[in-house]
Amino acid sequence: MTFESLGLNPQILKSLTEAGYTAPTPVQEQAIPAAIAGRDLLVSSQTGSGKTAAFMLPALHKLTDQPGEAPQGKTPNQAAQSARSRGERPRFKAAQPKMLVLTPTRELALQVTTATEKYGRGLRRVQAVSILGGMPYPKQMQLLSRNPEILVATPGRLIDHMESGKIDFSQLQILVLDEADRMLDMGFIDDIELIIGKTPETRQTMLFSATLDGMVGNMARRITRDPMTVQIASASTRHENIDQRVHFVDDLSHKNRLLDHLLRDASMDQAVVFTATKRDADTIADRLTIAGFAAAALHGDMNQGARNRTLNGMRRGQVRVLVATDVAARGIDVPGITHVFNYDLPKFPEDYVHRIGRTGRAGRQGTAVSLVNHAEGVHVKRIERFTKQVIPVDVVAGFEPKRTASAAPRRPGWRPGDGRKPGNSKPGQRTFSKPGNGPRKEGSGSRTFRSDGRSGEQRRG
Ligand code: AMP
Repeated sequence: MTFESLGLNPQILKSLTEAGYTAPTPVQEQAIPAAIAGRDLLVSSQTGSGKTAAFMLPALHKLTDQPGEAPQGKTPNQAAQSARSRGERPRFKAAQPKMLVLTPTRELALQVTTATEKYGRGLRRVQAVSILGGMPYPKQMQLLSRNPEILVATPGRLIDHMESGKIDFSQLQILVLDEADRMLDMGFIDDIELIIGKTPETRQTMLFSATLDGMVGNMARRITRDPMTVQIASASTRHENIDQRVHFVDDLSHKNRLLDHLLRDASMDQAVVFTATKRDADTIADRLTIAGFAAAALHGDMNQGARNRTLNGMRRGQVRVLVATDVAARGIDVPGITHVFNYDLPKFPEDYVHRIGRTGRAGRQGTAVSLVNHAEGVHVKRIERFTKQVIPVDVVAGFEPKRTASAAPRRPGWRPGDGRKPGNSKPGQRTFSKPGNGPRKEGSGSRTFRSDGRSGEQRRG
């Protein structure tokens, strides 16, 4: 199938060619024609499946296709200017967007806005802006004063602007909930309901989520009309392009040494190391930096400017190892990320899927390694049940664990993400060695080997 056969506007087709897209992904093949036809959509797909284009291409097509309306009166900006020229204090006229995309995080919102600019290049009258927590209010007022057709927003800040009368959804035609499951996980259900309550019932609604079960499914049914359900089980959603492994470690020092070693792998371009807490993200990033890695932390306590700088550094390849928490790393789309490390296992199996989806982007291969304390075997099994895949156990020569998983006693009071011994509460206590000093995979006799045909389940059991 081609993008032409989906009936998209020629200007959009041109942008797609410039972006190097040759054919629609499976989710795009199904979603785009239905969305152009005006159907509500419930789409179960992961990041990496091309879901942003699946909702944004038909939306741009529809917004551009509308007969050139002469602007009704003045734009908010023009009105403010003429008020000023009359010596009056300008009254802010509410922005009236035609499309709203709600996302769980600022990073995802910025990515959606950037993708929209890429796809909509050359389209007149279609402008997208992000409304995000952490962005200064005057800057947002300035963006809203342009009366953009498309708003991409995180729920909290959007409600602030709605309540102060800066946004009026009476003209809204298209509503997208991106990563809806994640928004609900983050407790945004009331905010989402409040926002939806202010939009016209005639709107088209498209909901994207990793799962359509449970709470998300209930909400999806409430807010859509006769939706078409698209469920994609592509190689990338099953993560077949990601080589997943578990390494058992005896203690924190073992974990740090192994991470240090694996980060020197010659096949590694860029990596994300996931930690359970913001503090650990900072500590480990600092220690890796001292050890000579181009490392940086990314977490929710950093201000938006610092987060953007770090992400830009990652995109430009200046940062090679990003040490991040789940929420902050949500939706990161950097094709150079070859490896994901779970320094701590995530609390929920869903997060495991989101984490490993940071690698293997845009059809590439990726590697996802979980560094697992012996007592955490049960949590690995829970992830395996969720993904319906067995994660092989791997051992690196010179870094063999002393104990086997089954022999390891489970400590009372253990919780996911706690890969530490009692009384040894600080992560990264050992100093990492400088890159180049440690054992290398090549030419040093140190070798990674895999269980030959024996599954991780068998090995652990
Ligand atoms: P998403 O699932 O929207 O986060 O997209 C994942 C990645 O796939 C992004 O880097 C997109 O630029 C890229 N992408 C989306 N659609 C296509 C396509 N049809 N062909 C090639 N790359 C694509």
